[in-house]
Amino acid sequence: MSRVLVIGCGGVASVAIQKCCQVDEVFTEMCIASRTKEKCDALVEKLKGKTKTVLTTARVDADDADQLIELINRYKPDLVMNIALPYQDLTIMDACLACGVNYMDTANYEPEDTDDPEWRAIYEKRCKEEGFSAYFDYSWQWAYRKKFEDAGLTALLGCGFDPGVTQAYCAYALKHEFDQIDTIDILDCNGGDHGYAFATNFNPEINLREVSAPGSYWEDGHWVEIPPMDIKREYNFDQVGDKDMYLLHHEEIESLAKTIPGVKRIRFFMTFGQSYLDHMRCLEDVGMLSTTPIQYNGQEIVPIQFLKALLPDPASLGPRTKGKTNIGCIFTGVKDGKEKTYYIYNVCDHQECYHEVGSQAISYTTGVPAMCGALMMLTGKWIRPGVYTVEEFDPDPFLDALDRYGLPRSESYDPKLVD
Ligand code: NDP
Repeated sequence: MSRVLVIGCGGVASVAIQKCCQVDEVFTEMCIASRTKEKCDALVEKLKGKTKTVLTTARVDADDADQLIELINRYKPDLVMNIALPYQDLTIMDACLACGVNYMDTANYEPEDTDDPEWRAIYEKRCKEEGFSAYFDYSWQWAYRKKFEDAGLTALLGCGFDPGVTQAYCAYALKHEFDQIDTIDILDCNGGDHGYAFATNFNPEINLREVSAPGSYWEDGHWVEIPPMDIKREYNFDQVGDKDMYLLHHEEIESLAKTIPGVKRIRFFMTFGQSYLDHMRCLEDVGMLSTTPIQYNGQEIVPIQFLKALLPDPASLGPRTKGKTNIGCIFTGVKDGKEKTYYIYNVCDHQECYHEVGSQAISYTTGVPAMCGALMMLTGKWIRPGVYTVEEFDPDPFLDALDRYGLPRSESYDPKLVD
């Protein structure tokens, strides 16, 4: 028996909500609240007669902590699932603290306005001290640790696939497969084809910011930063085939560098097709990825937000996308005095996702872990006062839930390594 407030009703949230409704013995009541209430109402309509979960909807501007506090106090949930955008993480955490409610999200905080001088000063100091320049990092949310501890509340950060499941894979490898993990390569392959020359699989603004940023990896206790797309490798992915992949900065590297003892190197690779890269480079060259507002015909326009309005809505890619994703982690290390390698990954089929929940696999592979993370919290398995990333909890019940609810693991003890 639980009451859950979900904030956001986009591509990822709509999968998470549908999956929660499949587990209606735990998710007994749910309020879906977002900026555009009509999207929440439409999803409730779609779910009518398919679940015992009692669903309600609300309109909320999650940038406004007072509106959130009013909604949380009115609905009195056991858990707030933040599946809006990373921009709202801090206001939603503040509201959860004010109301005494547990919190979870799928991506770490980044500001909407990266020109804000107050944020910029902190950001530039962090770039110098830490050695990576991504706009997103954990420092803002880790700063809430003591507040959540003192309030006896749990905040679970980044419970999608990557971040999220990839960290559970690391915790699982450390618990069952290795005494010492030396290297981790996280490989995110999307072998899907949506037929458009250019589209993003999740929120275009967040996606393009991530991909156009410098790459970085963790080696021998420090960050190594490289120009965007500077390191390219080819890998033959199970059930997908050969793909080009590029080294990116990714948020889970930051937490894993702290939580996996003695790890020597952590890298993250994502596959991209040539058409995607050519379009992105061109858009960047003409200034369309900029977050700095410009004046156009007497109106203020943020180029990347205007671009988002032109691109296909990621939620509309479901029926068109064919192929599979393959996301997982390759480890090297030592067990019982012997060197070993281990690969754990999930393969997910875009069309199977579409037939089950009406979405492509990127939303599915994020929404299912969000539901499973909420399930861990609501059943008391992942409740501990403070602010935590996924690898800090027991991976076993979470991976069992993923196996059961649509993202089963595959394993290899003889994987090809990435050079
Ligand atoms: P979408 O843009 O599809 O959906 C975002 C939702 O949040 C929309 O319903 C939007 O409302 C709502 N929203 C935005 N701003 C506000 C606000 N101020 N107040 C209330 N609601 C708001 O994004 P996705 O579903 O693709 O992504 C959701 C999250 O998942 C993001 O944080 C993304 O970074 C993360 N993600 C994580 C991954 C992982 O593996 N960990 C992978 C992919 C995504 P409206 O409909 O009005 O626009």
